[in-house]
Amino acid sequence: MNQANKALFIIFGGTGDLAQRKLYPSLYRLYTKGFLKENFAVIGTARREWSDAHYQEVVRDSIHSLKVSDEHALEFSSHFYYQAHNVKDTEHYNTLKKLADQLDGKYQIDGNRIFYLSMSPTFFGTITKHLKSQNLVTENGFNRVIIEKPFGTDYESSKALNDEILEAFESDELYRIDHYLGKEMVQNILTFRFANPMIESVWNNHFISNMQITLSEELGVEERAEYYDKSGALRDMIQNHIMQIFSLLTMDAPKSLSTNEVRKQKMLVLSALKELTTETVQSDFVRGQYTRSLDNKLCGYREEEKVADDSTTETYVAGKLELNNERWNGVPVYIRTGKKLAKKEAQINIVFKQIESSLFSKGDTAPNILTIYLGPSEGFSITLNEKKIGLGMDTDIMQFDHLRTESMIQESPEAYEKLLLDCLNGDRTHFAHWEEVAASWKFVDKIRTTWDASTNKLATYPAGTAGPEAANNLLEKNGHKWIWNPDQH
Ligand code: NAD
Repeated sequence: MNQANKALFIIFGGTGDLAQRKLYPSLYRLYTKGFLKENFAVIGTARREWSDAHYQEVVRDSIHSLKVSDEHALEFSSHFYYQAHNVKDTEHYNTLKKLADQLDGKYQIDGNRIFYLSMSPTFFGTITKHLKSQNLVTENGFNRVIIEKPFGTDYESSKALNDEILEAFESDELYRIDHYLGKEMVQNILTFRFANPMIESVWNNHFISNMQITLSEELGVEERAEYYDKSGALRDMIQNHIMQIFSLLTMDAPKSLSTNEVRKQKMLVLSALKELTTETVQSDFVRGQYTRSLDNKLCGYREEEKVADDSTTETYVAGKLELNNERWNGVPVYIRTGKKLAKKEAQINIVFKQIESSLFSKGDTAPNILTIYLGPSEGFSITLNEKKIGLGMDTDIMQFDHLRTESMIQESPEAYEKLLLDCLNGDRTHFAHWEEVAASWKFVDKIRTTWDASTNKLATYPAGTAGPEAANNLLEKNGHKWIWNPDQH
């Protein structure tokens, strides 16, 4: 039997896309599994004037494909209340407090509050300041704030934002979302590495030649052009998701899986990152932008609505990361991400060294490759060498796949569901800690400032392809190549 939680969620941005697509369905899943029962309520706030009845209808629409029955959906949505609210208006917080206190009593929530900031980051500081000053923070229960990305646009702005939020909340009350950390297969990295001595014993520079992290997107900027054009792939994907995956992949074993021990190891590895110079940024990082597709069906980035026709924002980044520590000296970690590529896919490839052998020459065998499929496919595969069937001792490649079925993936909890439950449980392991955020901003800022000062042109790639050719050259000069490519099927 799952433990039911007591909590009042106050969602800022309750009419928004994220709330409807992710938050309400995730809350519903927690409700159907018994993690939320009678003692919870949700206040959705946003500028629009909505009635509770309309809001509840929106919530029911958002869970339409998941609902157990109409009655169950009605029961769930009856816990939702709407309050029109302008986050800059102090008086509105007083109205919000009255409703919050009233619902706290009605549902016997014991003062537990989760404030979910699902709106533009420019408002994060204003909201937290008002939550404190207008006494929405309770004395008797827990108070937790979930903050959406992006957390700043560089180190300076993220530090200012962090300091501002810390004036109202304690650092252990902050839950910075990086939804990749809630993904099944990203969480599986630690289990796969540390629960398997066979894997962990070869997880070092004696055996591994290079590692590759790819987050390839098929979609373009969609409705987010205004935000994206100021951000670009470096800030949108590398600073957070890729740097988090990188640290899980390269960190040493933590003493336990507790929040502090995992963080300690992530920080050690982030601080071992080889410092970038203007020269290494120029030689080891590639930025690209998509142009019109070869078949003319997909428009180029500069043709997208709300994107300037001379925009130099990168929609693609590839790069080489190196670590100065005993385990990883000499092992490049190649990273890449891009929009409007040929295929949506997130995967990690670990390429093992080919050991010199008197029995087989290098040309006769292939490197062992381990692939971790993060999504939409989920699972693992490994390639090994075997004897080819027949006369003689020729070799062949064999591949072991362990891929989750469509129904297993459908049934496994969604990232936001897990992260909301973690927050209810007070577990911050799968959230981004300030020190991690700061370290990765500092790393990424060096790339940004070098690019901004450079007169080098952006590489381009036609929409629907594998990305710019320069990303292949990046590996070829070290004698490596990308194991997976977006245009291979
Ligand atoms: P959205 O534009 O769809 O929603 C923004 C919400 O903020 C709306 O409810 C709007 O009414 C409200 N709002 C705006 N100004 C307001 C004001 N002055 N007072 C009160 N309410 C106001 O945005 P979204 O896509 O839902 O994103 C929300 C947050 O989540 C952003 O930080 C975004 O970067 C982040 N995020 C979204 C996604 C996604 O898939 N949508 C993914 C990752 C991160």
